[in-house]
Amino acid sequence: MENNNTRRNFLKQTAILSTGTIIGSSLFNSAFASESALKLENQIPELDTMDFQGNYSLPKLPYAYDALEPHIDKMTMEIHYSKHHQAYVTNLNKAIETLDKNVVEHSKSLESIFGKMSKFPEAIRNNGGGHYNHSLFWSLMKPNGGGTPKGKLGDAITSTFGSFDEFKKQFSDASMKRFGSGWAWLVVQDGKLVIGSTANQDNPLMSLRGKGLKGKPVLALDVWEHAYYLKNQNRRADYIASFWNVVNWEAAETLFNS
Ligand code: MN
Repeated sequence: MENNNTRRNFLKQTAILSTGTIIGSSLFNSAFASESALKLENQIPELDTMDFQGNYSLPKLPYAYDALEPHIDKMTMEIHYSKHHQAYVTNLNKAIETLDKNVVEHSKSLESIFGKMSKFPEAIRNNGGGHYNHSLFWSLMKPNGGGTPKGKLGDAITSTFGSFDEFKKQFSDASMKRFGSGWAWLVVQDGKLVIGSTANQDNPLMSLRGKGLKGKPVLALDVWEHAYYLKNQNRRADYIASFWNVVNWEAAETLFNS
């Protein structure tokens, strides 16, 4: 595995270097930039294959802490990823240790746990959700992101909401109206795109009693204050506006098509 990655990285770097050598240094940077963009596209962590064996770890952040500047600031990214997300991972692993061995043996992925959420303790719900949601969130952003979604997802958004602007308005409204901490989502529910939100670290895959949002995530926005307070303080609307500049629509499309 590690050898493969090393080899792949080596080949990639070799390709970039030889391109740079051939076409000259002025084009080297743009060749590198498009290579980076390619690497980011469709980069969804293997969320459905995470095994439930008490050894979760942080997924690699697919860009540098300052890569989303000026929209999302470096310090927020660093603390959000290395402190907040890490804490969900650490506490998820601790929570798994408290479970009956038999339960752990027969529990496969986090997604399968979410499907029978009410049978698990609150710590699994909060920290399992926290780990899953953040892993998804990082992959749904990228430097030089934003713009409009293309392909089948772009078509589905236009036909469901009337226009991309109307979709943005409704998703932003859902993000603003989530009281306290939570997430805004675009999901596929019974074959249709639906916008909604969840509280705390809940997500639309969790089988919970009540009328909560259900469906398969396509887009996610963390609206906890820790996601924006350092840069935007209480101005959640400014943070939501910034988010549209960093959305990784290729990753969202991969989720939509899967
Ligand atoms: Mn967060």
